[in-house]
Amino acid sequence: MTHLLAALLSLGAFALLAGVVLAVAQRVFHIEGDPMVDKIDSMLPQTQCGQCGYPGCKPYANAVASGAAEVNHCVPGGERVMLQIADLMGVEPKAVEEEAAAPMLAFVREDECIGCTLCIKACPVDAIVGAPKQYHTVIVDQCTGCMLCVEPCPVDCIDMLVKPELLEHWAWPLPDTRRAAVGHERRGHHAGHA
Ligand code: SF4
Ligand code: SF4
Repeated sequence: MTHLLAALLSLGAFALLAGVVLAVAQRVFHIEGDPMVDKIDSMLPQTQCGQCGYPGCKPYANAVASGAAEVNHCVPGGERVMLQIADLMGVEPKAVEEEAAAPMLAFVREDECIGCTLCIKACPVDAIVGAPKQYHTVIVDQCTGCMLCVEPCPVDCIDMLVKPELLEHWAWPLPDTRRAAVGHERRGHHAGHA
């Protein structure tokens, strides 16, 4: 009887130990999200514009990583992003179907705005400010030109303007570090919006 009890106790102790080891291992080696998805997402321009056919940059990154989507659907990212993703995925580059349009900016004709707030709800990066029944306006530095606010406007008072090539806007092509910082900022606005 004592042998049986001893055997059961040591079995129980072993099971407990194994459980603790597994719990610790799960915590230590836990990986948040899919590293490949995160890498692809970090290469995307975070305009959340949906021109790739997916509801934002992260869903497109998921689709590319799972092989459900080709590497050439990001229109604002253009050839530069396609080549980066193809290189990362180790696949053949594919011609970008649609030429990225010139950088655009949304502009609200404030005297016509009725303050319905529909554009605020549509903007994926929180680039529009305004209060109900008050005119709304676009935060130029945050607008990515995705055009998602134009269609919902009931009085059609949002114009899409080509981003002026002004000296204060001109900058050397963004090094990857700065591009990553801009992407991180936009991802934050989008996460706060969703
Ligand atoms: S203001 Fe309009 S165009 Fe600009 S990011 Fe928001 S939804 Fe897109
Ligand atoms: S959707 Fe149009 S009318 Fe409504 S708040 Fe925006 S700009 Fe104004």
